[in-house]
Amino acid sequence: MKIGVLALQGAVAEHIRSITRAGAEGVPIKKVEELATIDGLIIPGGESTTIGKLMRKYDFMEAIRDFSAQSKPIFGTCAGLIVLAERIQGDEEAHLKLMDITVARNAFGRQRESFETDLSVVGIEETIRAVFIRAPLILSVGAGVEILSTYKDEIVTARQGHLLVASYHPELTDDYRLHAYFVDMVREQASSFKNSYSRRHLDSEAT
Ligand code: GLN
Repeated sequence: MKIGVLALQGAVAEHIRSITRAGAEGVPIKKVEELATIDGLIIPGGESTTIGKLMRKYDFMEAIRDFSAQSKPIFGTCAGLIVLAERIQGDEEAHLKLMDITVARNAFGRQRESFETDLSVVGIEETIRAVFIRAPLILSVGAGVEILSTYKDEIVTARQGHLLVASYHPELTDDYRLHAYFVDMVREQASSFKNSYSRRHLDSEAT
């Protein structure tokens, strides 16, 4: 199973290391054609405006929307969360608009620009270590979105089917359990695709 990390800008190598530790193969994705070779995609932290610009420049917008339309899992961390959101607070134009959430950028204020904390996440036993750096937060979610964790009553981890987002940087610690959670999502999706494919194949052989 192969998981790609969008390598236009941001924390790419750290994500690849965490994917490897979680038991899958991690590869950087620099060209749209490479999306065809992977089962899941991580959009890393960095600067969402820059990542959005580079995605438009290198034709990733439609390609990633197609990838998502095939129900292939996507995990956005920090700036990657902003890139996946349908709505960004203020006047800013949203990017991929795939996930039914409204986000606020740099939402923790100047005093708390960066900090670390332990977070409880639904589906993961015990707390995980989370590093927040000029982090966004999720102001509101649509009906199909499950809230997986909050920090001081603010939503910081959420899932909508095959889409997962976190406000923080899970790749900057040795704790790879959120990556393991995503690897499980990818594995489940890949095996359900295989099952439905072989079922279709058997059905067509039977007729
Ligand atoms: N502040 C950045 C943005 O708005 C996100 C920061 C990060 O990814 N660490 O894009």
